[in-house]
Amino acid sequence: MSFGGVLIRPNDSTYDEQRRIWNGSIDRRPALIARCAGVADVISAVRFAREHEQLVAVRSGRHSYPGLGVCDGGMVIDLGQMKGIRVDPEARTAGAQAGVLLGDLDRETQAFGLAVPAGIVTHTGLAGLTLGGGVGWLERKYGLTIDQLLSVDVVTAEGEFVRASEAENADLFWGVRGGGGNFGIVSEFEFRLNPVSPMVLAGPIAWAMEDSPKVLRFYREWIKEVPDELTTIVTHRRVLPVPTIPEELHGRHVVVVGSCYAGPVEEGESVLKPLREFGSPLLDGCAPMPFTKHQAILDPSFPHDWWYYIRSCNLAELTDEVIDILVDHGLRIASPVTVFSIFHLGGAVARVGEEETAFGARDAGHTVNVIGITLTGEGFEQEREWARGFWTALQPHHQNVYVNFLMEEGEDRIREAYGATKYDRLKALKRKYDPDNFFRLNQNIPPD
Ligand SMILES: Cc1cc2nc3c(=O)[nH]c(=O)nc-3n(C[C@H](O)[C@H](O)[C@H](O)COP(=O)(O)OP(=O)(O)OC[C@H]3O[C@@H](n4cnc5c(N)ncnc54)[C@H](O)[C@@H]3O)c2cc1C
Repeated sequence: MSFGGVLIRPNDSTYDEQRRIWNGSIDRRPALIARCAGVADVISAVRFAREHEQLVAVRSGRHSYPGLGVCDGGMVIDLGQMKGIRVDPEARTAGAQAGVLLGDLDRETQAFGLAVPAGIVTHTGLAGLTLGGGVGWLERKYGLTIDQLLSVDVVTAEGEFVRASEAENADLFWGVRGGGGNFGIVSEFEFRLNPVSPMVLAGPIAWAMEDSPKVLRFYREWIKEVPDELTTIVTHRRVLPVPTIPEELHGRHVVVVGSCYAGPVEEGESVLKPLREFGSPLLDGCAPMPFTKHQAILDPSFPHDWWYYIRSCNLAELTDEVIDILVDHGLRIASPVTVFSIFHLGGAVARVGEEETAFGARDAGHTVNVIGITLTGEGFEQEREWARGFWTALQPHHQNVYVNFLMEEGEDRIREAYGATKYDRLKALKRKYDPDNFFRLNQNIPPD
């Protein structure tokens, strides 16, 4: 009676649509989906679930790779409808509710030439991404998404509303900056904003994948000298058959260096010149473009409903041995939509102290995401095996891992994401804020 949002049960006509998440390979049937309209609904949903001892999944943007935002039986607390954003251009801050997607936030902040550094696909949820850390095209210039956080509004496992910031509940504020959904449900985030010109020099440059050993060797030397304004992501894949790419390249195995220069375009031109002149690129799509356009450039590669399986690790360096493993597995990509990406970290990410936030691995050199993808269940098992084999081949070189790129891989891997010291600190925080492990459908840090 007290719930202002929408309650969806298995017999409702929208049930199948509402239990679906981004990853089409996840098929779970919750007993109840509570789509919250505001904080009052989040509080009553938590209290209801507690009272009735329900298993609870929390979701905002529905983009968890392993599908942690939906459960079999139990209750989904869904914040996806809470989409309020308020930008204060004078103070350079923005308040964003948990249901905001990355593209929504960019649209509002770029109206004022400002931005929160976040991820690389516009339909990803801000909430889950922020709580894990948040890497993306502005990370080397401005840091992670959590590095912009000023405060969060949280509904605890007891259904109490608290605010956390450096000044208030500082331990909780430390924990939500990397510790995921372990400590409560965040209903709203407040971010510091950074200047980002609406026009950036950005886009992909592609070479034949056979050239990748040379391209990667050049790349690893070149990035040692580039300024923090430049963030790059290298992708190996087969070219998608989209109208913006010449037809003769469709389906071809390529290595792509994607760039985003968050500074004056002319400056970016000279920084990117050596890369553009290296070897014989098949395509050079790097050009001045609106930041919001660049933010959407990878959207067609990760649509809703395809089947996805990710294995990820961080690497300190792209050594010759690592390059051999990368190219060998790249050339064996079978699915027309499978990809693996290598994020270049460092810069502002590494300038924040390791102990300042719960996020692990600020010292990582590169994050490698191996993503086996198919349009439907057909061929999925083969892609999954390829991703697992690839990840295993890289194992001797693993540095650590980013928690938001984990599947359900067990407690050791979660500990690896934070490192032993921080993991123990997170466990102590969990004992304080959620001793019963009420919030356990996440990259879980059990209290004991
Ligand atoms: C296509 C795609 C692109 C991505 N790109 C990037 C990227 O560029 N950079 C990056 O850092 N990550 C990226 N990710 C990973 C992403 O950060 C995680 O998948 C993240 O969990 C997505 O958040 P969500 O709100 O959409 O997901 P949901 O499935 O809604 O939530 C994921 C988990 O987060 C927790 N959670 C969600 N909302 C709340 C809340 N309001 N309060 C407390 N806990 C909550 C819950 O534990 C939940 O299980 C990408 C993922 C995908 C699928």
